[in-house]
Amino acid sequence: MNIAVVGTGYVGLVTGTCLAETGNKVICVDIDTEKVTDLQNGKVPIYEPNLETLFERNINHGRLEFTTDLEMAVSNSQIVFLALPTPPGEDGSADLSYVLGVAHELGTLIKDYTIIVDKSTVPVGTAELVRKEIAKSCKIEFDVVSNPEFLREGFAVSDFMKPERVIIGSNSEKAKAIMGKLFGPYVRQGNPILLMDERSAELTKYAANSFLATKISFMNEIANLCEKLDANVDMVRVGMGSDSRIGNRFLFPGIGYGGSCFPKDVAALVKTGEIENSELHILSAVMTANKYQKEILANKILAYYNGNVSGKHFALWGLAFKPDTDDVREAPSLSIIDTLVNKGATITAFDPAAIGNTKKLIPDKINFASNQYEALKGADALIIATEWAVFRTPDFIKAKGLLKESVIFDGRNLYELEQMTNEGYYYNSIGRKTV
Ligand code: NAD
Repeated sequence: MNIAVVGTGYVGLVTGTCLAETGNKVICVDIDTEKVTDLQNGKVPIYEPNLETLFERNINHGRLEFTTDLEMAVSNSQIVFLALPTPPGEDGSADLSYVLGVAHELGTLIKDYTIIVDKSTVPVGTAELVRKEIAKSCKIEFDVVSNPEFLREGFAVSDFMKPERVIIGSNSEKAKAIMGKLFGPYVRQGNPILLMDERSAELTKYAANSFLATKISFMNEIANLCEKLDANVDMVRVGMGSDSRIGNRFLFPGIGYGGSCFPKDVAALVKTGEIENSELHILSAVMTANKYQKEILANKILAYYNGNVSGKHFALWGLAFKPDTDDVREAPSLSIIDTLVNKGATITAFDPAAIGNTKKLIPDKINFASNQYEALKGADALIIATEWAVFRTPDFIKAKGLLKESVIFDGRNLYELEQMTNEGYYYNSIGRKTV
């Protein structure tokens, strides 16, 4: 099929590339001319494992192209995916201006029956709004489908190529049949394509992300309680997770959820609840718990230095909101940096992929090192904010020689307590005894 993908960010680029991989002819559109030029020159602008190989292969086979020309892309496509930003507005609700702005343009560009697919995370009722916006200037038959995306940054390619489920929400049988055919090759192992109405599809995405954010926040609060009660969250986690009704995934405590999805999606769903007079009490509490958790490591550090970090210098390992991505949107590392730098500390940070994006956000606030050991030089303590694999088994003797004091504040519980005791470090982690 001929497909256009509008918005070539984390979701759009992966969607376009993976749709090309099964033989479709895909054209990706973006308004960011610099990004499109990079893509046309064969440069992948994001860090996403395994994406580059597929990207190169499909460009070489002539199945994947990039443009800023929406008209050209749409007039040659049977299906148009919208993978546009839906950032939080001032009141927490999703800002639909990108999605509706493009929908408005599509009205005059559709030349033949076309399916418009909402891949962006959008509130219930958006498919209807998109339909109305297009219909204002379009007399040709078209359908709108809600196809929420569940890929995880860091695993985006495998998540798209082998999804646990594909959700297709539409009120049109014709559109559902075409979409089913498009996604058939991705679910050959038997994972379901779930057909539903568009409103349920739209809500499913918010419900799923909000549930995951709840799971994280629940475990973070249990971890905080473990510290007070001298219990070990590692034990509690394994004990809880062995119950198949609970499951052992997503139970690792840390320093709060971040990224471009969970914070904005929880806030948007809470807002929807408010508007509908169906308050989501649990999710409101999740937002409060997460705000607290994002400050927890900085607060532990402040407590250690009796509230005064002025003149202290810290090494920070990890900037991305999670490993295997360069995405720093809403990353807990940024909250820690803010608190400590505002109180007079200096920081040298290292991250395997996210230094570029951090520099764009805070070019002068901290220093950046070219490797994890360089960051340690002369630091009063090491802070760990992201669980990159490369941080899991460092050379502790070398690290000791570089740090001024053998002190580690670990927001991701990377090391065993016994090992830290044996290595002679002061080690403060989440939900476990400080050793
Ligand atoms: P992103 O910011 O990485 O990408 C959005 C892209 O859209 C950018 O390249 C931007 O330049 C482009 N754009 C903006 N206006 C445009 C226009 N008028 N025409 C063409 N292009 C335009 O965003 P993302 O992370 O890919 O997220 C996109 C949507 O997918 C959001 O709704 C998000 O909630 C949802 N989502 C994201 C993830 C994720 O892990 N990032 C996962 C699932 C769903």
